[in-house]
Amino acid sequence: MSENIVVLGAGYGGLKAAQKLNDYLRNTKKYSIILINKHNFHMLMTLLHESATGTSDFDDVSIPINKVLEGKNVTFMKGWVEEINLANRVIAINQGTQKISFRYLIIALGSEPAYYNIPGLQEYSMSLRSLYSSIEIRRRIHDILKKGEQALTFVVGGGGLTGVEFAGELAHQLQRVQDPYQITPAKYKIIMVEGAKELLPGLSAEMGRYSRQTLEEMGVEVITEDFVQKVTAETICLASGKQIHYSLFIWAGGIKGNQVLEQSGLKTETRGRVPVTQYLQYVDNPTVYLVGDNALVQDPRTGKPVLPTAQSALQQAEIAAYNIYADIMGLEKKVYVPSSIGTVISIGRGKAFGEVKSFKFKGPAATWLKELIPAKYRYSLGGLKLLS
Ligand SMILES: Cc1cc2nc3c(=O)[nH]c(=O)nc-3n(C[C@H](O)[C@H](O)[C@H](O)COP(=O)(O)OP(=O)(O)OC[C@H]3O[C@@H](n4cnc5c(N)ncnc54)[C@H](O)[C@@H]3O)c2cc1C
Repeated sequence: MSENIVVLGAGYGGLKAAQKLNDYLRNTKKYSIILINKHNFHMLMTLLHESATGTSDFDDVSIPINKVLEGKNVTFMKGWVEEINLANRVIAINQGTQKISFRYLIIALGSEPAYYNIPGLQEYSMSLRSLYSSIEIRRRIHDILKKGEQALTFVVGGGGLTGVEFAGELAHQLQRVQDPYQITPAKYKIIMVEGAKELLPGLSAEMGRYSRQTLEEMGVEVITEDFVQKVTAETICLASGKQIHYSLFIWAGGIKGNQVLEQSGLKTETRGRVPVTQYLQYVDNPTVYLVGDNALVQDPRTGKPVLPTAQSALQQAEIAAYNIYADIMGLEKKVYVPSSIGTVISIGRGKAFGEVKSFKFKGPAATWLKELIPAKYRYSLGGLKLLS
């Protein structure tokens, strides 16, 4: 049998899992750790809204994978995962031209936008899902501003973390670029549409209220308790009957598990996520683990599915890597118990709100913390060399 431990996806979950496997298996030469990702860079998804609006450079939101793996016993393969064949224990990459066998597998392929069969939504909206999509969004914003039409309307569908941070960053950026593009606030609008009663459903009500108030102060029109029902090339039709003529529509209204999972025949449940045990093993195969946005796991304290966040992907990766090590060494496996360190949201620069344990803070302290998180994360990946 192959002695490969294969990790699919080098996002938050996959990269952390590969690093931890390297640490745990440092003293055994028997296993090869192989990390597969479609690009040779690690994408800081949580900062994607900054590169999409142009407030950060692309280099600030991506890290070369080889730099992270320097000196580690992990082989990186650039490859597009086409099929996960659990029966034959083989991964097919790059249109099936390469096949990699595995003894253990960690799947961390992340998510993709969910369109819920809403007519026109996929066709006419853009989503923040990769570095390339952020480049495309930035280009479209530039083109729209350059064209200088009379009324510019930017619409953000979905008032979760991604939508709120994007809308705030866009409002901030449009204020900054008024001179070069010769636009005034009277000429453009940003509208956010959210189906729930408040923004940030799933997070605290106070954070939702803060986000709404801050966005409104920045000139964003926030529509809640209304749903996108249909999209055409020019118009977004809401369930209430309201119609919005738009210049650019960013869809951040939901995600689902990577389609490779379903196409490969894995059991998928809520929004294409795969049910796992409390040890994060695939319910049908204990040598296969799923982490991050791919895993559907309940929080034992609330009975609700754990929210797909970078934080939970990192925690799950540590558990999955340990449990593979435990299996190899004949040790007891660890149960995954989610623990939230907290959430910090930034709405344009200098306006942030943080909740860490029972502490809530806004203003400069929250902004400072928001900026510290990616720096701390970079440091955890590769020490000082990744901070420059
Ligand atoms: C704009 C934005 C803001 C966010 N803000 C926050 C935040 O503030 N806090 C927070 O905790 N979370 C936030 N999130 C959510 C967070 O980014 C995700 O939950 C997290 O990235 C999930 O980690 P993951 O490892 O499961 O997947 P990802 O980090 O998405 O990694 C998946 C990896 O798999 C690769 N891949 C995908 N398909 C294939 C394939 N077929 N073949 C090969 N490789 C493939 C991708 O290139 C990627 O490297 C935000 C998300 C977005 C988009």
